[in-house]
Amino acid sequence: MQKQTQAIRIQTERSQHREHSVPLYLTSSFTFEDAEMGRSLFADEVEGNIYSRYSNPNVDEFIAKVCALEGAEQGLAFGSGMAAIFATFAGLLQSGDHVVASRALFGSAIQILGKIMPKWGITTTFVDGHDPDQWEAALQPNTKIFFCESPSNPGLELTDLTALSAIAQNHGVVLAVDNCFATPVVQNPIELGADLVMHSATKYMDGQGRVLGGVLVGRRELIEPIRFFARHTGPAMSPFNAWVLSKSLETLYVRMKDHCESALILAQKLEGHPALNAVHYPFLASHPQVELARQQMKWGGAILTIDVKGGFETVNELTQHLQIASISPNLGDTRTILTHPASTTHSKLSLADRAAVGITPGLVRIAVGLEAIEDLVEDFEQALAKVGVGVNA
Ligand SMILES: *Cc1c(COP(=O)(O)O)cnc(C)c1O
Repeated sequence: MQKQTQAIRIQTERSQHREHSVPLYLTSSFTFEDAEMGRSLFADEVEGNIYSRYSNPNVDEFIAKVCALEGAEQGLAFGSGMAAIFATFAGLLQSGDHVVASRALFGSAIQILGKIMPKWGITTTFVDGHDPDQWEAALQPNTKIFFCESPSNPGLELTDLTALSAIAQNHGVVLAVDNCFATPVVQNPIELGADLVMHSATKYMDGQGRVLGGVLVGRRELIEPIRFFARHTGPAMSPFNAWVLSKSLETLYVRMKDHCESALILAQKLEGHPALNAVHYPFLASHPQVELARQQMKWGGAILTIDVKGGFETVNELTQHLQIASISPNLGDTRTILTHPASTTHSKLSLADRAAVGITPGLVRIAVGLEAIEDLVEDFEQALAKVGVGVNA
């Protein structure tokens, strides 16, 4: 069965009312018929729900759908994308272990690896993710995990997942991929050899800017220790958010198709604009990794970046002239969102660290929404026509 169909048709339990859509199981705990049932559930002799920190029918349905979409054996859901990422490291690593990660990561992922994990003696070497040789050169005897985003936020840098998984396998290292930007509709890292895949479900999985969520899927033996960590430390997804997200997955395919089509058109229209130094989008012929993008991604994704001449001042003018796009740090919404990473999501990085991952002062991330593309093109063209007059940076 096609994944698109599975995302719509997979369902866990339904009640005696035979409801078509999944009901909301807004309950913190579940009851036992007798003490014996409680004992056998806690002893893992039978399967069943105990407490919503461990499992819940809405959360289970959401996880089952993501597993189907990613082609994964098992999964876990979390209160946010960052909880999924943190739990992966905390569940699998111990003091003295080492991680190799791309330097092109979401800001909070850099903070976890660079500032938080070292408190427990877990260290990270950051490399240029697009260069497989650097991953291999960074290996140490204690390296346990390779971690990357592809495409990366916000630099849209790709990692060759097939090449990286081959290196990881040769050295017994787990490859974990944050697949948030591509979504399982556009790219399936597990099919390219990754062991674990995580998502900020907050973004395209919800796709409508309502709830926070995170999800991790992959091989059973890797998920189990992370399940133990999550069960006892409590970063659980709420049943309500799972109910929202499970329904949203039914439209993920059509939404992504539209998002990606519009993003490509906008990128093509804006490329070469005199107010811009550059337009970056994985499926533009000018993207340095366009061939790799076409190999490992079905479409180019919903996000492009533009480098506005004149830096922050001009970017600020642009945000004042745009009529449609929202200015927000989020992405993955029906509404087009503009973000200036250097002053917001990546403002905690040094100038040099930002430069190393392509975050220039004028870089603007555009998460293209589901508005009519003609309206978006017109809005960006009218706003860009008004900015940076006389700028020749
Ligand atoms: C937003 C984002 C995250 C963090 O997810 P939250 O749900 O906000 O915790 C992680 N990785 C990427 C690539 C993101 O864009």
